[in-house]
Amino acid sequence: MDKMSECEIVKDLAIPYTEGLINPKSKEFVDVHLSTCNNCMKYYKDIKSDIFKEKYNEVQEDKIVINQFSKINKKINILKICLISIMIIVLIIASLLFAKYQKNNNVINRSYNQIESMKELNNYKLTVKTIQNNFDTNDQMNYEEVYYYKDGKYKIESDNSIKFYEDNSYEKICVYHDLKQIDYYKQDFIEMTKGDLIGIFSCVLNYKEMSSTVYNLALTIREERYNGIDCYVIRFGDKNSYTDTWINKASFIPVRVVNEVYSDFYREEIYTFQENVVNDLDVDKEILNSEQYKDYRKNEIDNNFKERTNSNKDLQYLFK
Ligand SMILES: [Zn+2]
Repeated sequence: MDKMSECEIVKDLAIPYTEGLINPKSKEFVDVHLSTCNNCMKYYKDIKSDIFKEKYNEVQEDKIVINQFSKINKKINILKICLISIMIIVLIIASLLFAKYQKNNNVINRSYNQIESMKELNNYKLTVKTIQNNFDTNDQMNYEEVYYYKDGKYKIESDNSIKFYEDNSYEKICVYHDLKQIDYYKQDFIEMTKGDLIGIFSCVLNYKEMSSTVYNLALTIREERYNGIDCYVIRFGDKNSYTDTWINKASFIPVRVVNEVYSDFYREEIYTFQENVVNDLDVDKEILNSEQYKDYRKNEIDNNFKERTNSNKDLQYLFK
């Protein structure tokens, strides 16, 4: 074999040799030739570095693909965490809102049921103290009314007047101390039926309507002491005004309603409710025949609704 054809054979074997895919005898032949032929040796070195580069590039490409996958994986994980966090936050908010809804509903329902049951009572006294300030005109009012109810008879007493009613009666009596006058009314409509007085707690009756709807969430309830009584305070308000209804935590009877229009108007009603403290004399109109009232002028008044209005009987509530 001449030198030239040996070189060609050695060059042909370059790739299998470099990758170690050559039998020992051929390897020995190549090694011997390379040790004597610089030309082939250079060729082998070039091949080696080409293969190395190729492999290196392959590895790099693999690395890039792996990197891209792991980046996508990371993004998916971040997305998952975000979604789960959002779901947890939504769940927390929803359960807080639901807890608020339940609490509002519970307090208002219990108070409403208490008031409804009070309408059936036959003996009670209700004192209503009113404080009213009008900041515009600087008017201040401060007065007290006492409502007595026993077995169908009412007496409503204030500083200046006394009124007597009976359930389902067509009569009422109004006494005016400043005028020294007693008006005996005969009317063609019934002014009072049993339980009407308890309507003074209309604050809670209105909330009852709201509490089972989404408006429930417009109400807030806090707990506070008033006059030594632990109370729930239901607030309905905005930045201009509020109404606070104070409800005795133990009895669920309202004890106070405060209504304020900021820097304009303030009104407060304080309720004291007592059961079984009224005696027959408290609601007896016979007292008007006593010595105390002998100077009072007595008028009989026909208060006939139909004659005065000629209109629908349903409008009677206007004159209550
Ligand atoms: Zn050679």
